Amino acid sequence: MTASIGRVVVLLGAPGAGKGTQAQILSEKLGLAHVATGDLFRAAVRDETPLGVTAKGYMDRGELVPDAVTIEMLLERLAKPDAEKGILLDGFPRNTAQAEVLDKALADKGGRVDVAPYIEVPEADLVGRLGGRWICRAAGHPYHEQTKPPVTPGICDADGSELYQRTDDQPATVQARLQQQLGALDLVVDYYRTKGVLKVVDGRQGIDLVTGDLLAALAPANG
Ligand code: ADP
Ligand code: AMP
Repeated sequence: MTASIGRVVVLLGAPGAGKGTQAQILSEKLGLAHVATGDLFRAAVRDETPLGVTAKGYMDRGELVPDAVTIEMLLERLAKPDAEKGILLDGFPRNTAQAEVLDKALADKGGRVDVAPYIEVPEADLVGRLGGRWICRAAGHPYHEQTKPPVTPGICDADGSELYQRTDDQPATVQARLQQQLGALDLVVDYYRTKGVLKVVDGRQGIDLVTGDLLAALAPANG
């Protein structure tokens, strides 16, 4: 970890709830480092690093990567200098063991989770969100066939890179991910509710309205 750590925001939501979409907007607006464990794992898989080789099997089955591996990767990422400006976590923690390790690591540096906004989307909507998702090769910018199509089909509006569909967004893996990950998410939501930092946002709204609600939840007076 860096010597000091800025504001820490934990963005919660089921797979497909819109965390990545919102994290990219909010991190830019608020000047926070966007730390997405799914993106870190996908980069490791692409680069065929030992971490990527380990993670790939779990990701392909829609399971969580084991905590030891995930936590080590996250702590290494938080040690980078840009964490000093504050971080927006997307996809971590995914279970209460990870939440506890995060609290301890932050406390060691005099920090804490300031606010945990939860983008709530009914399970029935998640399948369509994930099935229609396309992301860009360069930076993982998310698009959707119906709700957020790119201006030019197959090309990222933001950086011009190619769009592709994640292998774990295939219907069978989507079912496995939801079945295996939603229970743990509920427990993480309860964890932050008990800590008094949870803010629930209605994720069924359009992207801009969700952004507005998140910005209100993150306003200093609320964080
Ligand atoms: P997560 O990071 O939580 O898995 P994403 O941000 O990748 O979710 O969003 C999942 C899919 O849903 C993407 O295709 C994205 O374009 C789309 N999406 C995100 N937010 C909304 C929204 N508020 N309404 C409709 N579609 C959305
Ligand atoms: P995501 O991009 O957040 O949907 O994550 C894609 C996949 O990466 C997940 O289905 C898990 O296999 C793995 N993953 C991402 N974040 C975590 C985490 N915090 N703990 C365990 N596995 C994770």
